[in-house]
Amino acid sequence: MPKTREEVLKDIQEHPENHIHNFDELTACCLVDRALNLSLMEAHSKFVDLGANPVTKCDVTEGPCACGAWHRLDENFEGDYKGFPTRKEYLESLNKKK
Ligand SMILES: [Zn+2]
Ligand SMILES: [Zn+2]
Repeated sequence: MPKTREEVLKDIQEHPENHIHNFDELTACCLVDRALNLSLMEAHSKFVDLGANPVTKCDVTEGPCACGAWHRLDENFEGDYKGFPTRKEYLESLNKKK
C-alpha cells in the first residue's frame, strides 16, 4: 500500500500505540518511496513513549536505538523501566495504557 510521509506522521501523532516498533519494523514504517525518512524516525522518538533514556528518547523496542543503546527485550537496567522487571513488560504496559 503506498503511503506518504504526511500519512505516516499523522498516524504516529494520533496512534502512537501503533508505532511501538523493533528496529526492523521501524525502518519499514519510515520507508517512503523506498527511502528511509529521517523526519519520520524522529517523529517516532518524539511521539511514541518508549521510556527509559531521559536525554535522547528511544525509537525502537529492540535493536540499535536513537539513545545509543542496543536494546534487548529481556534487558533490565536498574530503575529504567519504572518498576517493571524487563523492558518487554514495560513496553507491554505502555501498549495497554490506551
Ligand atoms: Zn511506526
Ligand atoms: Zn533506547
